[in-house]
Amino acid sequence: MTEHKSALEVIRSHQMAAPVDVHAIARNLGLRIRSLDLGENVGGRIKRAWSGGYEVHVNERDHPRRQRFTIAHEIAHFVMHRDLIGDGITEDALFRGPWGDPHVETQANRLAADILMPYFLIQIYWLRAERSVDQLARRFDVSKQAMEIRLEGFRRSAVSWPAGRMASDTGAAFPGLA
Ligand SMILES: [Zn+2]
Repeated sequence: MTEHKSALEVIRSHQMAAPVDVHAIARNLGLRIRSLDLGENVGGRIKRAWSGGYEVHVNERDHPRRQRFTIAHEIAHFVMHRDLIGDGITEDALFRGPWGDPHVETQANRLAADILMPYFLIQIYWLRAERSVDQLARRFDVSKQAMEIRLEGFRRSAVSWPAGRMASDTGAAFPGLA
């Protein structure tokens, strides 16, 4: 529990403004990031390093924004699923790891979105009239597709404004910790 909470604190400490620095989050969590040619069908990988700790490999063939999402996704596995990672896992371009349980990927994608596009930050830029998918995707340095999906969730939660609930959205991926 304490470990998860400190991961959450690390993530939050890098969410003061957009774009969120996923490299710094990874570094602060002790993860080394390497950009490598992983071939055509590999999205990313997290593996135990020979020196101890874990490494995240992102595919240098992917667009930098895609690489940022991959890093956030692997951070999510590191934070939530370390007991399942073992010596390492490799994911295809659609983030289908070897888990045999799609719920694991759903959780990782959800936390990845919480890391890169926290609702409370979207809210800040939204109130500054940055409201188009294009503007927000640029501001958060994410793909338009990722921002589009996120904005659907944002509009749904906007029903429950004002902001009290929004500020704790990252915690939503850590049941009981928010
Ligand atoms: Zn995954």
